[in-house]
Amino acid sequence: MNKPYDLIVIGSGAAGQIAAITAAQNNKKVLLCEQLDSLGVKLKATGGGRCNLTNTLDNEPFMQAFGRNGKFLLDALKAFDHKALTNFFHSIGVETHSPDGFRIFPTTHNSNTILQALENELKKLSVDIKLNTKLETILTNKECIEGIQTTQGTFKSSHLLLATGGLGYPKLGATGEGLKIAKDLGHTISELYPAMMPLYTKETWQANCTANTIAKATIKVNLENKKLKKLQATGDLIFTKNGLRGPVILDFAREITPFLEKLDAVPILINMTRKSEDEIIQYLKKHNGFGTLLPQSVLNQLCAICDIDPKTNYKNLKGNSKDKLIKLLAWTPFTIVGHDGFAKAMITRGGVSIKQIDPKTMQSKLIKGLYFAGEIVDIDGPCGGYNLQWAFSSGYLAGSLL
Ligand SMILES: Cc1cc2nc3c(=O)[nH]c(=O)nc-3n(C[C@H](O)[C@H](O)[C@H](O)COP(=O)(O)OP(=O)(O)OC[C@H]3O[C@@H](n4cnc5c(N)ncnc54)[C@H](O)[C@@H]3O)c2cc1C
Repeated sequence: MNKPYDLIVIGSGAAGQIAAITAAQNNKKVLLCEQLDSLGVKLKATGGGRCNLTNTLDNEPFMQAFGRNGKFLLDALKAFDHKALTNFFHSIGVETHSPDGFRIFPTTHNSNTILQALENELKKLSVDIKLNTKLETILTNKECIEGIQTTQGTFKSSHLLLATGGLGYPKLGATGEGLKIAKDLGHTISELYPAMMPLYTKETWQANCTANTIAKATIKVNLENKKLKKLQATGDLIFTKNGLRGPVILDFAREITPFLEKLDAVPILINMTRKSEDEIIQYLKKHNGFGTLLPQSVLNQLCAICDIDPKTNYKNLKGNSKDKLIKLLAWTPFTIVGHDGFAKAMITRGGVSIKQIDPKTMQSKLIKGLYFAGEIVDIDGPCGGYNLQWAFSSGYLAGSLL
């Protein structure tokens, strides 16, 4: 065996890289193993290649966005919040900004800037980087970490961080190996669901509207089920050939995938006009027509459903067709019938149970010297930089405490 490391990090995503850098900045000897042939492959794909690093929320509302498990983030955020994250990137030569006052990006709007700066820092700090190196087994003795066996040999350390991510987008390295290994060591893995992906609909009319984005659409479930009825999301909506995508759909998908496993189809309603029925009637009267209520391609489709000529003046709209159209403009029905599963899931719901991880250190409560950070943990947030901030915060915390 080689000389022991102070810390071995498995996985070179946001969580693994920040942990390796933080420990090395504290003069620790660090080994970073990555199964792929380059660092941070998923990080490179984030934000459509622009990398939405984090957002401007304070810790309290930030945690609330993670729902029930949100409080688990407190120590990691106290150690490394969005201000610490942007300061850190500034210190390694990456400037950031928030064009919409909420989401934070590198000013280059190019994730390569982030990857290059992190890699330069890892090299500057002499972190040993081993690419094409897959973790196979964790070596333990009396519930303490001793080292790891990989496809490139055996390495010794009494501290090991598993930052191997979830199951979404396997082609970006999400193979789920880390989850299997954690389970073999006795950890509970809460049920895993794909989250944040486009949804397929039974309806097909939206295929004629793919050029338009609907801003601030609101989606709700159209079922008499108390739990499902509460689900609602608002954000930008985009139509696809087979269904729906866009930030509002990504956030909504996170909520309904568990239900889609039990129900064959989930009926939903979408408000695309940001108006109630009464407000729509007032609008149509005022403009004596459809004005700019919706993009023309969408109006054409909704009018066709109601047998109405989209050029008709409001005063000439009559009877059932008119009522039907006003209802459709207020809440347009769709039926969600499926998705691409983990192949297109940006996030995995579920992971290593937070009951078995100490939030103050990210150390396993079962195996001394074993740490977890990032998406491998049963923590997932909505769209908008939440998940990368979590990966960076938890990775920083784990790397800073040796
Ligand atoms: C297309 C896409 C866009 C996204 N955009 C955003 C965004 O803009 N903002 C945001 O906040 N979130 C975004 N996310 C989510 C975000 O990317 C993840 O939450 C985050 O990258 C998780 O980081 P991580 O370090 O935990 O894991 P990962 O980045 O998944 O890194 C895990 C690494 O571990 C390696 N690995 C796995 N198993 C082994 C093994 N056995 N041995 C060695 N190495 C192993 C993998 O190859 C991988 O490189 C996006 C996700 C996707 C898929």
